Amino acid sequence: MRVSYIKLADCSGCMINFLDVLSLDYIELVYCPNLIDNRTLQQADIGFVSGSVCMEFKEHISILKELREKCRHIVTVGSCACVGGITRFCRGDQLPQTGHKTFLPVSEVIEVDYAIPGCPASTMILKKFVEAYHKGNEKYLLPFKNLVKKKRASGQDLQDEIVSAGLCVGCGMCALSCPVEAIEMIKGLPEVRMDKCIRCGTCYFRCPRNFLKLRKENAEVI
Ligand code: SF4
Ligand code: SF4
Repeated sequence: MRVSYIKLADCSGCMINFLDVLSLDYIELVYCPNLIDNRTLQQADIGFVSGSVCMEFKEHISILKELREKCRHIVTVGSCACVGGITRFCRGDQLPQTGHKTFLPVSEVIEVDYAIPGCPASTMILKKFVEAYHKGNEKYLLPFKNLVKKKRASGQDLQDEIVSAGLCVGCGMCALSCPVEAIEMIKGLPEVRMDKCIRCGTCYFRCPRNFLKLRKENAEVI
């Protein structure tokens, strides 16, 4: 199975976790400027993208469009690529690229087929996704397809769709991952301070129960 990987604006955590996927014997990495020498995009089954798109950086947009043309399916990896993550909070004027200030999720620029949650996406979920794709397990892949529809997420979504829906197990990952400390664990459950929330979506994409919620959404096929 031929795969490409493009890293846009992110911390590299998703790509580091992706490295383990390369140990699967049926995977051939045909393009990834961070990992292999080849600088020409190739035809591939999957084009993975982590990180958000900087709209002032034209190379981001052109490489994404070319990736879309060359790959059968595009898969966004982690909260920055799926909903913008912490880069949504960027206001520009930061060294070394002071002119970079507008960051969007990948699905706002090109059509995306599947979204893999996590911040970063875990090695386990990346491997399970690739295995299901390789076997053509559409049933397993459906929640990833539906997650593409979620272009923005906030602490309120976490509250409404996970905590208030009774799905929270009190693991605390949302509070740990919030970049502005807008979530406090009180009596074992997260409480979101919406006045502090910057709508980065990290807590929602980090929550291990969002996947369960997606499975419930797709209950008719599971
Ligand atoms: S609560 Fe924190 S992690 Fe969640 S969307 Fe708001 S700022 Fe991001
Ligand atoms: S990450 Fe999800 S399951 Fe864990 S405490 Fe937060 S809302 Fe609950």
